[in-house]
Amino acid sequence: MAEFCSLSGRTALVTGGSRGIGRAIAVELAGAGANVVLGYRSGSEEAESVASEIGGRAVQADVSHPDEARRLVDEAGDLHILVNNAGVTRDGLIARMSDEDWETVLQTNLGGTFNTCRAAARGMMRRRAGAIVNISSIVGLHGNPGQTNYSASKAGIIGFTKALARELGSRGVRANVVAPGYVATRLTNELPEELRNSMLANTPLGRLGEPEDVAGAVRFLCSDAASFVTGEVLLVDGGLGM
Ligand code: NDP
Repeated sequence: MAEFCSLSGRTALVTGGSRGIGRAIAVELAGAGANVVLGYRSGSEEAESVASEIGGRAVQADVSHPDEARRLVDEAGDLHILVNNAGVTRDGLIARMSDEDWETVLQTNLGGTFNTCRAAARGMMRRRAGAIVNISSIVGLHGNPGQTNYSASKAGIIGFTKALARELGSRGVRANVVAPGYVATRLTNELPEELRNSMLANTPLGRLGEPEDVAGAVRFLCSDAASFVTGEVLLVDGGLGM
């Protein structure tokens, strides 16, 4: 009998796979039997070490640039699975937010997701099979002071993915969103103590998420166990956002 959520024989591209949540997703998908290609922007040592650990390949590309995103998708080969995880924050209050901080976050998080999906869509449609998972965030649904740029990018990913699910569904391609709550990574290391305590007090499961918590949800959505699930937003947040 086939293993539950097996991805055996599938090729998967995970962007931002060099560390944090992307690294955990790459490890999880490889453990499920997928051939994993991980994209990274600058952390070549980290990326190569993950690739050698999972028997995959690391490819450098800045997904905020359409040409680099296209090259990344081309180099990854015939994709069954695309996970858009690469993301950045440039936090600041609106009155003092620079054009650059606004543009960098939108262009990386939302633009990067658009760039790779556009590049991968044709091949997936031709093969009439594909699973796309885009990583949003709880703040894309609820907002967060100091993160107008990040919240807009993550909310944009949700609308984008729903439109994509409608566009590609008849061609056998599914597109879903995973929206994590606060997960212990480099991105959240610097949370102020006060914010961290209030967030934990409002989380029924009473802890920060681990990257592996997110990876399990991504694996499910990529697998045939989710073959009738598309356009969905799956919160992985310990109950914080319900
Ligand atoms: P990290 O900062 O630990 O890792 C981010 C990854 O994205 C790195 O691999 C980085 O590559 C890559 N990356 C950044 N910019 C680019 C780019 N322009 N092109 C290609 N790759 C890029 O983040 P997390 O693991 O914490 O977050 C992963 C995702 O999960 C993000 O989308 C984030 O918004 C989301 N998320 C995180 C939460 C959390 O609590 N941590 C909560 C909710 C959502 P490199 O290092 O090589 O530059």
